[in-house]
Amino acid sequence: MYQWKGLIQEFKEYLPVSNKTPIVTLNEGNTPLIYSNNLSSIVGANIYLKYEGLNPTCSFKDRGMTLAISKAIENNSKAVICASTGNTSASMAAYSAKANIKSFLLVPDGYVALGKLSQAIIHGSEVIKIKGNFDKALELVIEISNKYPVTLVNSINPYRIEGQKTSAFEICIQLGDAPDILSIPVGNAGNITAYWKGFKEYKDKNNIDKLPKMFGFQAEGAAPIVKKQKIENPQTIATAIRIGNPASWEYANKALEESNGYINIVSDKEILEAYKFLAKNEGIFCEPASAISVAGILKYYKNFDIKKDFNIVCVLTGHGLKDPDNAISQSSQIKEAIEPNLDMILERIMS
Ligand SMILES: *Cc1c(COP(=O)(O)O)cnc(C)c1O
Repeated sequence: MYQWKGLIQEFKEYLPVSNKTPIVTLNEGNTPLIYSNNLSSIVGANIYLKYEGLNPTCSFKDRGMTLAISKAIENNSKAVICASTGNTSASMAAYSAKANIKSFLLVPDGYVALGKLSQAIIHGSEVIKIKGNFDKALELVIEISNKYPVTLVNSINPYRIEGQKTSAFEICIQLGDAPDILSIPVGNAGNITAYWKGFKEYKDKNNIDKLPKMFGFQAEGAAPIVKKQKIENPQTIATAIRIGNPASWEYANKALEESNGYINIVSDKEILEAYKFLAKNEGIFCEPASAISVAGILKYYKNFDIKKDFNIVCVLTGHGLKDPDNAISQSSQIKEAIEPNLDMILERIMS
């Protein structure tokens, strides 16, 4: 019987592991690539959604974390640390629980979605809130990991990118080819870096002659790469990409340049429209940050010569349940309770 045992087991020959590497896995990866009828007919091409919210802790961060934690254990590390807007910490907490090591987390006070924080806490991470933004938190954990015996698992840890690139392999396998365009949210820019690396490596080892154009999108109030300057106080409803000074900035530029790609901004209003569109019309509940990959295509596709047979893949990086407050505040309020009376209920239904 064949069983998916996680992405390290599946893609060993592409990853920096040996027989001695202890594999710490929650069977991450193997997420669905879902065809979207509505988006395909709007854009006039085949649009697929790579639903990364279906990983074990409900975001793509698990792909990098299985490898980062496995390598930390191989190197005898007893503790890990990260700065996070939420999903990295949820993933770190779960994988270090599985590996039985300690984990420490620095979060910017007040800006982490409830679902993500609850994951970090229940898995037993030591949560330290700081009065500062993500970029400050990242500076601090880098300093701490340089001075003390604790492994940094933010995306500047090279194993994170290595693990994350496996999503590009899966897309090639699922489509039978590389897509024409890969659309992706850009925060710290680790993921766009990872996908580009993944597509190139997969092409080299397999019978594929095409590489996708990489399309990245940033929120209007947090768009340092588009604006070519650091943003002191990044602002956006899409908290997972609320980043003013991306750690993988240079690599993102390289991916954009080498792939003849494209990067631009999308407003919070447009992000939320795509977020609600996916929920209402596609049955897919993703995070606001994830919806930017769809919002960006809807906003800019007319600027490109999109052919009918193009395959466009939008990466939906995290699950909507991570941020239930946002979903509720974006919807019309549920009316007050009424008596369990048939006529009254019918009246509601008809109104
Ligand atoms: C981390 C994250 C991103 C941003 O990815 P980067 O690698 O930082 O560019 C986007 N969406 C979600 C849901 C995330 O958790």
